[in-house]
Amino acid sequence: MSAVSVPPPKRLQKPLVVPHRHMFGPGPSNVPPRILEAGANPVIGHMHPEIFEIMNDIKSGIQYLFQTQNNMTLAVSGTGHTAMECAIFNTVEPGDSVLTAVNGIWGERAAEMAERIGARVNSIVTPPGGYFTNAEIEQALLKYRPALFFLAHGESSTGVLHPLDGIGQLCHKIYSYFICVTLSDSVMSVLTGIDILYTGSQKVLNAPPGTAPISFSERACQKIFNRKSKPVSFFLDLSWLANYWGCDGKASRTYHHTGPVTAFYSLRESLAVLVEEGLENSWDRHQKVAEYFHRGLESMGLKLFVKDIKARLPTVTTIVAPRGYNWKDITSYIMKTHNLEISGGLGPSVGLVLRVGLMGRNSSKHSADMVLAALKDALQHCHKSKV
Ligand code: PMP
Repeated sequence: MSAVSVPPPKRLQKPLVVPHRHMFGPGPSNVPPRILEAGANPVIGHMHPEIFEIMNDIKSGIQYLFQTQNNMTLAVSGTGHTAMECAIFNTVEPGDSVLTAVNGIWGERAAEMAERIGARVNSIVTPPGGYFTNAEIEQALLKYRPALFFLAHGESSTGVLHPLDGIGQLCHKIYSYFICVTLSDSVMSVLTGIDILYTGSQKVLNAPPGTAPISFSERACQKIFNRKSKPVSFFLDLSWLANYWGCDGKASRTYHHTGPVTAFYSLRESLAVLVEEGLENSWDRHQKVAEYFHRGLESMGLKLFVKDIKARLPTVTTIVAPRGYNWKDITSYIMKTHNLEISGGLGPSVGLVLRVGLMGRNSSKHSADMVLAALKDALQHCHKSKV
C-alpha cells in the first residue's frame, strides 16, 4: 500500500499562468520590470553580509522617502497590516488609552488591533470623505489623554489626504505618541512631528506586496524600550527587529526570523527608482497627474467624492458611485473588457465610491487616459436603472 494517501493534485501539474493586468486600484500597483527582475536575483542567506548591506540601503531609502533622520527605520516582513500591528503592539501596553481618528477603514482597524491587546480605545468618527480639524483632534486628545493617537494620512478607503500640520505638536503637548499611515509619498515626518510612520511596498513604491517600510522617532523608542510588559508579538517585537536591521548599535545581528530576501531586493530597487527620479519630482508628477485625472472625470460628468480639493489624495482617487448603476457591474466590466483593475469602496465607503489608484509608475497621463476611456465605455455598456 502506498504511504501517500493524498494524490498529487492535478492542478499543480498545469503550468502557472498569471495574466498581465493594469493595476489601477488602491494596490497592489504594477511592478515595473526593473523591480520585478531585481526580485529574481538568487536567494542568499538572510544573515549574509550582502543582505545586511541591502538592508542598510533600504533603511537609507526609507529615510529619504519619509524625509526623516530616525535611526529606527526599517521594513517589516509582511504587508501594511504587519506594520500597523508593529506600531501598535510595540507602543501600547494593556490598559493604555488609545485614540483613533476614524474617517475610513484604517482608523477602525487600528482601533480593533489596539482593543485586541487590551487597550482602552476611543475613536473620533467623521463620515467617509471628511477629515478632522485640529480643534476636534485637540479636544479628543484632552478628553482621552491617549498614549497613542492613530491617524491615516492617506485614507485609501475614502481618498482623503488628511492635513497634518500641527497635529504632531498637539500630541506632544499632552504626551501622546502620534502614529500615522501614509499612502502618499509626500509626507514630511520631521516637519509634522509624527512619531511612527509606515506604508506598504505595493503602493507608490511599486514593489510587490510583502514588505512594509516603518520609522520610529527617538520619542517613540523611549516609550517602546521603557515599557513594563513585553510586546504581545515576538515576531513584531521592535527590540528584535531593531537588531536584525542594525538599528540598535550592537556589533552583531542575531537571527530573529528569515528575512524575505527577494522581497528586500525588490524593495531596494523600488527605492533606487525613487532616488533616481527625486522625491520632489515624484510628488510633482503625482499631483499633476491626479489633477489631470480629476479634470477628466469631472468633464465626463462624474463627481469626486472628496469635496475639499486640498484633501484629495494624489494617489488614490475616489469617485462618487455613479447613480443608477451597480458599482460592481462597472468594476467587473472594466476588468473583463479592459483588463484593468479599479475597485469599489472599502469598509465605510462600500457602495459609495469607485476607487482608482495611480501610484508610482502608474501615475501618468497615459494611465489616467486609459481609466477615463474604460469608465466612459462602462457607463455606456453597463445596465443603468431608470429610477
Ligand atoms: N493602511 C492603508 C492606508 C492602506 O491603504 C492599506 C492597504 N490597502 C493598509 C493599511 C494595509 O495594507 P496591506 O493590505 O498591505 O496589509
